Amino acid sequence: MVSRVIPVDVFDLVIFGGTGDLARRKILPGLFRRFCAGQMQPEAQIIGAARAEMDSAEYREMVADAVREFSAEGSVGDEDLAQFVERLHYVPIDARGESGWSDLVSHMRPGVVHAFYFSVAPSLFGDLAERLNIHGLTNDASRIVVEKPFGRDLESARALNRDLAAYFDESQIYRIDHYLGKETVQNLMAVRFGNMLFEPLWNSQYVDHIQITVAETVGVGGRGDYYDKSGAMRDMVQNHLMQLLCLIAMEPPSKFDPDAVRDEKLKVIRALDKMDPHHIVRGQYEASDDGPSYREAVGDPRSRTESYVAMKVGVSNWRWAGTPFYLRTGKRLKARSSEITVVFKELNHSIFGEQEDHHNVLSIRLQPNEGITLGVTIKEPGPGGMRLIDVPLDMSFAQALGDDADAPPDAYERLIMDVIRGNQTLFMRGDEVEAAWAWTDPIIKGWEERGDVPKLYESGSDGPVDAVQMLARDTRVWRKVSP
Ligand code: NAP
Repeated sequence: MVSRVIPVDVFDLVIFGGTGDLARRKILPGLFRRFCAGQMQPEAQIIGAARAEMDSAEYREMVADAVREFSAEGSVGDEDLAQFVERLHYVPIDARGESGWSDLVSHMRPGVVHAFYFSVAPSLFGDLAERLNIHGLTNDASRIVVEKPFGRDLESARALNRDLAAYFDESQIYRIDHYLGKETVQNLMAVRFGNMLFEPLWNSQYVDHIQITVAETVGVGGRGDYYDKSGAMRDMVQNHLMQLLCLIAMEPPSKFDPDAVRDEKLKVIRALDKMDPHHIVRGQYEASDDGPSYREAVGDPRSRTESYVAMKVGVSNWRWAGTPFYLRTGKRLKARSSEITVVFKELNHSIFGEQEDHHNVLSIRLQPNEGITLGVTIKEPGPGGMRLIDVPLDMSFAQALGDDADAPPDAYERLIMDVIRGNQTLFMRGDEVEAAWAWTDPIIKGWEERGDVPKLYESGSDGPVDAVQMLARDTRVWRKVSP
């Protein structure tokens, strides 16, 4: 199958923080892959900006090293890389200082898309927006891309939104949640709204419950300082898991258009029930032969920050009242796996007499091995009567789509190209982010007020046993986390 790559308009992309970890690991290798795929026109230009003093030749060398280091082995051709880095420039700039800005202005060409990627700490967003405005770079052709974390509570998110709105219209602001750039997440919408099969059953009458799992095997690593002030709730639930929940639960938008989709997502967030503390389990991983405990990793023997959270969430609207959404995410778990599972109800009546329970289950795997599996019940082959078994109807993208699916564009690649195309569908709108914090804030505040202490869990396990018990009380079980 041949993919149709449509080149995007010519652009000048400025990466503030162009020497940082995110730029080197994700943004620049992603741009390189899009360049190789023919999606960037030859006139496109990328300008790295940070405080470090270096010239464009040194920057090109740094980027070439990063692309080699963070791309799949054997995927980087010398010729392609040499052509790609020719498109790069570097301008030393301090987001809080005045030097370098006129140099940056001189690189920006009229008549092309101007995109400014704020790959820096959120505390610099306001300074950057203000200086872009002072230097005449906030025109209609400008877009800004901002990274998570977008605030640490409602108040700080509002302040960031205000800082950006002072110079940019909402239609120019692209808040990244890279989960939305994943192929399967978009496929979830294609499956829901492109098939007759699922949507009529997509409600509490037919769906028993939904599970959303984002499990990591890694610990906090070198991010201990940041993570300990954040925790799984702020780092994962408020953004990534919430976005997945919205896409599963939202009403069909009238069209696949940025505001139509985001309006529906916002309605879901507003329909979330206030959380009952009994419906949340927080955890912290213990030490193992492979690594330190959470508290050792963050260097605080009394830390109460959660590295795991599981919760039972209700959505109070006509479609979902009565169908729980179980969310869980954590570090140092048994397997790295992100999966959404829709568990349909049992049949009202079985014509086959007494059999084990059979549920249809739709699993949407985000990583690894992106794909969608529908469990259907069939007759066990062979003699011996009508015994039923569940088998998967597997829609593995790698199998179904052949070579094209082997290396689907990374989430960052897709999202950056969407910025250039001016398509905000897969980006969070300001009101969505604020609504998500408005729901999350009281949960975190409740923990702080009660002095809640996370349950310890074994590294390499499925998480705290309390999370298993939470589902057992509802006579349900978590899906097995498998790699
Ligand atoms: P990082 O490695 O610390 O890099 C920060 C970048 O910002 C560097 O290029 C730094 O270069 C530049 N910088 C710092 N202060 C500056 C200033 N005053 N003016 C201009 N440039 C300045 O951070 P990162 O990991 O790349 O993360 C960047 C942003 O993305 C953060 O908001 C982070 O939360 C977010 N994010 C990162 C990841 C990830 O995987 N790394 C994932 C999701 C979100 P100089 O010091 O030379 O100025």
